[in-house]
Amino acid sequence: MDNILEIKDLIVRYETEDGVVEAVNSVNLSLRQGAAVGLVGETGAGKTTLAKSILRLIQWPPGRIVSGQIFYNGKDLTAISEEEMCKIRGNDISMIFQDPMTALNPVMTIGKQISEVIAVHEKVSSAEAEEKMKSMLTMVGIDPQRAEDYPHQFSGGMKQRVVIAIALACNPNLLVADEPTTALDVTIQAQVLDLIKNLREKLGTSLLLITHDLGVVAQNCEYVAIMYAGEIIEYGSLREIFKNSLHPYTEGLFNSIPKLHEAVNRLKPIEGLMPDPANLPQGCKFHPRCKYAKEICLTQIPVNFELEDGHTVCCHRYAEENDLWEGAEGHE
Ligand code: SF4
Repeated sequence: MDNILEIKDLIVRYETEDGVVEAVNSVNLSLRQGAAVGLVGETGAGKTTLAKSILRLIQWPPGRIVSGQIFYNGKDLTAISEEEMCKIRGNDISMIFQDPMTALNPVMTIGKQISEVIAVHEKVSSAEAEEKMKSMLTMVGIDPQRAEDYPHQFSGGMKQRVVIAIALACNPNLLVADEPTTALDVTIQAQVLDLIKNLREKLGTSLLLITHDLGVVAQNCEYVAIMYAGEIIEYGSLREIFKNSLHPYTEGLFNSIPKLHEAVNRLKPIEGLMPDPANLPQGCKFHPRCKYAKEICLTQIPVNFELEDGHTVCCHRYAEENDLWEGAEGHE
C-alpha cells in the first residue's frame, strides 16, 4: 500500500531568548493510506510541532522548518507555495487541535463555522454548504437544529464534536488529531475517540493521533511512534511496540501505567524530567534518565536500527545486545 505521508529528515527549530531549540530533530515517519499511527511522548517531546509542521503551521518568528521534506501523496509540502498549501489544508489534510474551547469562534454560530469551511473548500452554494453542514452535525451526533447555537451553549465534549465536524467537513484523506480528548471529561473521551474511529471506517481517512496515553493508542492505532526530545526513538506496529518494545524510554512508559492483572501499590514513573530543549544532553538525550546508560551513551548519539518488520529503535543497548557495534557506534 502507498504512503499517504512521508516525513524525511525533518528538522524544526525555534529561536528563543534562551537559545535555539531543536523541537524536531531529524524525524523520519511514514503513514500508509488508511492506517492510523499513534505519536506518543511526554509534554515537550515535539509532537505538536511535528503535527503543525505537516500542515505548515509553524510560524516564524520564532519557529521554522530548517530542513527535510514532508511528502503528502508524493508532493513535497515544504516546497509548494502558500496558495497551494491552503488548498491542501482542510481539503486533503485536517487537524483537530488540543483545546476545543479555543479552536472555535465564540461569536459565530457553530452551523456557520462548519458551513463556511465547506463553502471555502468545496466551492459550493450556501444552500449546499448548509445541507452538508447539517449532515456533518448528524454524523458527529449533534442535532442539526442546534446549528444556530453558539459555542458557549455547548459542553466541552460537544464543542470537540463540532471541531471534529469542521476537521472532517471536506472529507480529508489525512486527519492529524493533537490530543483530541485531553481537554475533555473522562466520560466524554471514549465517545470522541469512538466517533473518530467510526468516521475513519466510514470515510477511509488516515490518522496521525498524538497522545501521551498508550491506552488510547492501543484502541485506535495500528502503528506507534515514540517521540522523545524531538526524535522518534522507537517505531513499530502496535503489536511489536506492546509486545516487544526495545527502547528503555518505551519500557518506562509501559511501566508507568497500571496493569489490570497486577496489584499496584505504587506506579513506577520514569525518573527525572524531559531535558531542557535549549540545553540538551550530549550523546543519547535520554541518558540522564536511563537505568541502562553506559559510558558510550553519555557521548555518542545512537543510530537508528531497523529490524526486518519495520520496527526501528535508536539505542546503544540494542546494538550491544545484538552484537551490532561494528559500524554502528553512533556519533558525537
Ligand atoms: Fe539508555 Fe544508552 Fe539506550 Fe540511551 S542509548 S536509551 S542511555 S541504553
